[in-house]
Parts: sequence; structure tokens; C-alpha cells
Amino acid sequence: MQEHILTICYLVASVTFILGLKMLSNPAAARKGNLVAAAGMTIAIFGTIFLYHDAETGAGLHNLGWIFGGLCIGGIIGTLAAKKVKMTAMPEMVSLFNGMGGACAALISIVEFNHLSAEIVQSGVAAVSAGKILIIVLGLIIGSVSFAGSIIAWGKLNGSIKDFSFSGQNILNLFILAVTLGLGAYLVMQPGQSMFVYIILTLALIYGVFFVMPIGGADMPVVISLLNSFTGVAAACGGFLYDNKVMLTGGILVGAAGTLLTILMCKAMNRSLTNVLIGSFGGNKQGAASGNTAQGHYKEISLSDSAMLMSYANKVMIVPGYGLAVAQAQHICHELEKILNDKGVEVKYAIHPVAGRMPGHMNVLLAEADVSYEKLLEMEEANDEFKSCDVVLILGANDVVNPAAKNDPSSPIYGMPILEVELAKNVIVNKRSMKPGYAGIENALFFQPKTSMLFGDAKKVLQDLVGEIKSV
Ligand code: NDP
Repeated sequence: MQEHILTICYLVASVTFILGLKMLSNPAAARKGNLVAAAGMTIAIFGTIFLYHDAETGAGLHNLGWIFGGLCIGGIIGTLAAKKVKMTAMPEMVSLFNGMGGACAALISIVEFNHLSAEIVQSGVAAVSAGKILIIVLGLIIGSVSFAGSIIAWGKLNGSIKDFSFSGQNILNLFILAVTLGLGAYLVMQPGQSMFVYIILTLALIYGVFFVMPIGGADMPVVISLLNSFTGVAAACGGFLYDNKVMLTGGILVGAAGTLLTILMCKAMNRSLTNVLIGSFGGNKQGAASGNTAQGHYKEISLSDSAMLMSYANKVMIVPGYGLAVAQAQHICHELEKILNDKGVEVKYAIHPVAGRMPGHMNVLLAEADVSYEKLLEMEEANDEFKSCDVVLILGANDVVNPAAKNDPSSPIYGMPILEVELAKNVIVNKRSMKPGYAGIENALFFQPKTSMLFGDAKKVLQDLVGEIKSV
């Protein structure tokens, strides 16, 4: 009976994972989606702890003290970390947590291999199935690569690890990978050679480090998404190993979602995954920037003129970017929207899919400031509306409004879909200097006749702007 209830728990959990993922694709439902999937995971965990019984011996789970100790410690650390983390540090936290998932999958493989080794000593090699060893080895390799890679990505994002590469590194990486896979195949055929499991573990960890080390720090969100899909596959291996349906479903969903997200991010940046993994785009910004020459003169606009222009506009479109997140200016940005609304000005937000440094960054940032979801326009919708805007206010965005993506085939971002802000009557760009953004390239938009630069930190500028608009 308990076995059937457990199967129903797993079924319910699997359905909540799918529903949760579906809800995550809509900003209004995302928070609920997270809770739905978390509730499903809770059902799966407690169902396993209290209802699981070994098919042969009928025994339930042992070591409940350890299990609940781990649950409490992990739960407390996870809750505190998630509550404390700043929005701009979110990719770092995702990377760290993803690394822990990879480490778990690798540890499961080691523990299960040791069980198999004991079986081999007792009953001989013929007693263990090659399929089971294959899954253990795959979980070990993929989990270890994901763990080591995620920790390096985490270090790069928080600035403690610098980009590092040497000539021939890609060839060395391929060599390490080939040796690791070769030893893995050997272990599947000769499972008695138990010390190989530790050699494979070491090589997979080295590969994980070398794989991520040369990739530019700014490309880490794409790499994290890819490593996330690796962790999903490693967890799915665990599901096969334990014949646990919910672990299998969860792992496959994470693997598929991570892969799709990686592809979508690459598409939105108009780059191939190979270019992200072995190109140095975003890694050497200075170098990229120095290749470009200044494109002429730009004009500045004062706070009072900006306030005037916006107060007498019919429609203002705000384009948020990475700088808005850095300045943590989302709340004052919402304040500006409300003040303009009070003056009868229609305000909307144009959201580029890769604005900021992680997928959905701007949606999450603006949601934090209670900006209504209905005011957020996706790129295509926004591009249709720019021509009816009197003012576009760009707040800390750069690459996502760079016209070079449309008209300069030599530009590294050529082909990336962008927000066509120049269709509006006036464009005001707020940033601190003329420095380039993530792609390290100049932006011709800043030199166009319609564009005026409003220099300064986004938060300070918006505070002053709100003050000025109040007095108009
Ligand atoms: P960019 O990185 O192109 O530009 C951000 C701009 O913000 C900079 O030019 C900077 O100029 C300005 N800025 C920084 N701090 C402040 C501040 N305190 N106040 C005001 N301005 C500030 O950002 P975008 O959002 O336009 O584009 C995102 C880029 O990141 C794209 O190239 C995308 O491909 C890439 N990317 C995005 C990922 C995602 O998932 N979203 C993942 C990986 C990469 P200044 O220093 O002069 O102030």
C-alpha cells in the first residue's frame, strides 16, 4: 500500500515540476510556479523518507538522524542565502547551488560504485550489470564537470577568479576529456579496477576547471545555464540508478530546460554556443573597445531639459539595462513612472531578452519595485511602439540598443535583434560615461542627432529627475 502512495507522491511531484516550469515562463505567474514546484519537491522528499521500503528486504530508510540533520542545515543555509542575495549576484548564487547539485550526483556515483565493488568481491564481476556501471560512470563524469565548472563560474562572477588561457588549451581540454571518457569506458568493461573511479573523478574535475577557465567572465550566465543542464542529466543518471521516477523526471526537466535556455540565450545574442565556449567575446573588453574609433560628437542634455521633455510628452518608453541593476535604481524608476502618470504621460518599459546579465533580469528587477507586468513590453511589441513615443529613456542599457547589430556586418553583435529606439522622436541615454557595455564596442546611437546623453549614476540621476519633474 505504502509503495502505491509513494508512486502517487512521485506522480504529483512530477506534475508540479512541469506546471512550475510552465508558470516560470510568465513573469506574473513565476513566483507561484516556484512555490508549486517546491511543494512538489517537498512531497517527493518526505514521501521517500517515510514511505520508501526496499523491495527485497522490506526495510525503510536508515540514518534518519543524518537525513534530517542534512535537510535542516541545507534548508537553513539555502533560505538565508536566497534571502540575502542581491539581485545582481543572483547568477553567482545559481552557479554555486548548481555546483552543489553536480557534487551530489558525483558523490552518489562514488557511493554506489563502492557498493558495487563490495558485491564484486562477494559474488564476482558477472554479478553486476554493465548498464548500472555505465550510469554510475556517466553520473560521476557529468556531475564532477558540472561541480568544478560551476565553482569556477562562481569565482569568475564574484571577481575572485580571473580569466586564464594559454595557447593549445582547447586541444589539451579535448585530450583530457577523451582520456576521461576512455577510462570511463574501460571501467565499465573492467569494474573490478575500483581505483579507476578516483582517477576518473580527478580528471573530470580538472576538465571542469579547464573547460570554464578560458571563457570570458561576462559569458558566465550562458556557461552556468549549460552546466545546469549537465547537472540535470547527472541527476537523471541517479534516477536510473535508483529506479526513482521523480529523480528521473526532475533531472530530465532540468537537463532539457538548461539546454533550451542556453540555446535561447545564444540566439538572443546572435552567437553560436561554440563561439561562447571557445571565443573570447566579452572576456577582453578593453581590447575590443580599443579597436573602435570615436564616431563623432555626442550632445548632452541637462536634468531640467530632460524633465521638461518628459513632462510634456504623451508617451515615454523606458529601456532598462544592466546599469539600472548595478545602480539598484528600480524603485526610483517606478517612482518616475508614477509621477509621469500623474502628469498624464503614458509610460511603458521595453524589455530586451538579454538585457542585464541573466535571463529575465529586467523582469525580476522591475517586479521587485512592483512595476506592473502589463507595462512591460517584449522586444517585438516595443519595436512596434517606438514610433509612437515622444521620448525613450535608456537607463544603463547599451548593447541591446546598439544599431551596429542591424547595420554593421563587421560588428561582433551583428545580427543580434535589438530595441529600435531610434524610431522614437527623442532618445535620452543615461549612463556614467562613454565606456562600452558588455560587448566592448562603441554605440553609434549615442552620436545620432536624436540622442542626448544624461550622464551619472542611474539612481542619482533618477532621484534628481523625479525632483525636477515634480517642480515642472
Ligand atoms: P551593457 O552591458 O551593454 O551596458 C550596460 C551599461 O550600463 C554600460 O555601458 C555602463 O556604462 C552602464 N552602467 C553601469 N553602471 C551604471 C550605473 N551605476 N548607472 C548608469 N549606468 C551604468 O548592458 P545591456 O543590458 O544593454 O546588455 C546586456 C549585455 O549582456 C548584452 O551584450 C548581452 O548579450 C550580455 N549578456 C546578457 C546575458 C543575459 O542573460 N541577460 C547573459 C550574458 C551576456 P557606464 O560604465 O558608462 O556607466
